[in-house]
Amino acid sequence: FVQGVFVQGRSRWHQRRFSHLKITMADGDPICEWILGEGGASKIKRVTPVGGGCINVANRYDTDFGVYFVKTNRDAETSMFEAEAAGLNAMLGTKTIRVPKPRKVGSLPRKGSYIIMEFIEFSFSGGNQADLGRQLARMHKTGTSESGFGFVMDNTIGSTPQPNPWTNDWVDFYREYRLGYQLKLVQQQYRDNDLYEKGQRLLERLPFLLKDLKITPSLLHGDLWSGNVAYDKEGMPVILDPACYYGHNEAEFGMSWCAGFGDPFYKAYFEVMPKQPGFEQRMPLYKLYHYLNHYNLFGSSYRSSCISIINRYL
Ligand code: ADP
Repeated sequence: FVQGVFVQGRSRWHQRRFSHLKITMADGDPICEWILGEGGASKIKRVTPVGGGCINVANRYDTDFGVYFVKTNRDAETSMFEAEAAGLNAMLGTKTIRVPKPRKVGSLPRKGSYIIMEFIEFSFSGGNQADLGRQLARMHKTGTSESGFGFVMDNTIGSTPQPNPWTNDWVDFYREYRLGYQLKLVQQQYRDNDLYEKGQRLLERLPFLLKDLKITPSLLHGDLWSGNVAYDKEGMPVILDPACYYGHNEAEFGMSWCAGFGDPFYKAYFEVMPKQPGFEQRMPLYKLYHYLNHYNLFGSSYRSSCISIINRYL
């Protein structure tokens, strides 16, 4: 199925005229099949690549029934996109901030998987960071969990697996499934004994570093950096491509070094979710998870940031 090909699904004339494409669609293109079936369209007018992603191939599908946004990955299991859909649905459920509505996840014929979701037209002029701060805080406040910290399924952070087993205690969760997990990957991948050993000492100090805090599970986007924030045509914030779980709300700022949040963002955020004493001192601890992940994904240029954060807490 190539860009620019016009496919009409339901007219007799087109069934004959494009019979070869119908066969392709029936046999090998579950994306077109869904769009022309449950998706409610009777023709796909255009398929256009969307750039800017880090992991997957993205396309917009213009149809006579609106536009769909589709990501495909030739290697990933459907579980990756199922987890993305579960995250999007969890955030949608809070009715606090705009996220694309997921419509369908499935596997590609030979290997790989896809997700189809609502296409959102973004504004080039951006929007107001205070709206983003306020709505994100409302999501953190409204999105609570009775099962503790974790999520309904494991997901990925970048392409790294992110385990989310339900855990009662935040310190246990952050120690075991966030920092501890990434440290193990560092050790396996780079045999970096020095960083691993220092990291283990930091893990022992976690109960002390997070003591005297009231931490309840908040629904987090989980990978909130500027590439995953946009504004719709009305100027309202949209958050995309999540790695959701229920965690300490402050952990949401672990990617703030790539997010460009300014004062209006934080001011609006803390009006809804008041800042707890020691927020600034804990921030590097939450950035460490993402620096470790960058070390694992992109190599040693991130090592010194990991080491200097760990050192400041030892
Ligand atoms: P990846 O999973 O590869 O990181 P992204 O989810 O970041 O991909 O999406 C790739 C590109 O598509 C980005 O430029 C993003 O802004 C855009 N995008 C993501 N979701 C939508 C959507 N629902 N509607 C329109 N554009 C989208």
